[in-house]
Amino acid sequence: MDRVVNFSAGPSAMPLEVLMRAQSELVDTNHAGISVLEMSHRSKAFEEILSNTKQLLRKLMNIPENYKILFLQGGASLQFSMIPLNLLQKDHEAAYIITGSWSQKALKEAKKVGQTTVTATSEEDQFRQIPDLSQITHSKNLSYVHITGNNTIEGTRFTHLPKTDAPIINDWSSGILSEEINVSDYGMIYAGAQKNLGPSGVTVVIIRDDLIGHAPDGLPTMLNYETHTKADSLYHTPPTFGIYMIGLMLEWIDSLGGVKEVERRNREKASLLYETIDQSTIFHSPVKKEDRSLMNVPFKTDSVETDRAFLHFAAAKQLVELKGHRSVGGMRASIYNAMPLEHVERLCGAMREFEETMK
Ligand code: PMP
Repeated sequence: MDRVVNFSAGPSAMPLEVLMRAQSELVDTNHAGISVLEMSHRSKAFEEILSNTKQLLRKLMNIPENYKILFLQGGASLQFSMIPLNLLQKDHEAAYIITGSWSQKALKEAKKVGQTTVTATSEEDQFRQIPDLSQITHSKNLSYVHITGNNTIEGTRFTHLPKTDAPIINDWSSGILSEEINVSDYGMIYAGAQKNLGPSGVTVVIIRDDLIGHAPDGLPTMLNYETHTKADSLYHTPPTFGIYMIGLMLEWIDSLGGVKEVERRNREKASLLYETIDQSTIFHSPVKKEDRSLMNVPFKTDSVETDRAFLHFAAAKQLVELKGHRSVGGMRASIYNAMPLEHVERLCGAMREFEETMK
């Protein structure tokens, strides 16, 4: 099979085993005599898929019983609006820690809903690091503190959390299931599926019970978390195929040994790539060492022409989707859970070989 090595930031590479299994089960899923694509979302066969997927996510992330798991549509971007609409109380503020383009977008939507405050930002440093969180003081009337746990575009990640009594909300679209975390440190975690979880079109929301049910009157039904928690993600037709695919991805993670083992692999892959960049005489990483992402690795040369030449060089070796985000330039390798070490080794080999050709 002639498949490329896909470093896309999302939708991104999926494990071949998962794709092959989906293919083999497509016509007759779980021996139900019907494809998952044709199943009613109210059928027993689909309810089983939904419940198994939820249970496995709860097990793998060690999600306490007082958190609900939802599968919603509208991407992580709709959460930028749903969060303030549901959780930003009257006469309160929502705090945002700004670490890149996605947190800026989240803040922009919250501003349309109510009072916001930026308690820390690394914008003046082009988001090359996570801002110092030790000096942050939060006001008393805070509904929540929003962070972007992994910054897909800038290639940074939070390694510790701000001190606050308010619930912390984590946009973990590009980090979910990549490393072990303590879910109880957060009021809510959300993630678009199209990186570490499955295909696009489904967003996972993990939300603590006490945060549900305080939305203002008049909030449209579909935008209210309570609608979806009460109906167990079945208020309307959920993204059925996406949920099924998340289930297959979770079974794959479980078969590897769970998040602990996946984290070990991710650290190994990221260290190899960062070492290659740091030892190189032509490539460099713009990101402060302590804050480097395990998932998204931006790197650059000193010239746009050399960057372009490397992208061509890599593409000829079937290493694709390495172009950096337009706001950052250079290259970016997204090395999510599904990317095996061998593929990162191939990239590192290509970088060394390219460097030789430049001498
Ligand atoms: N937040 C982060 C951290 C992201 O990486 C992305 C997508 N790349 C989004 C939000 C937006 O997600 P979606 O396209 O699912 O709305």
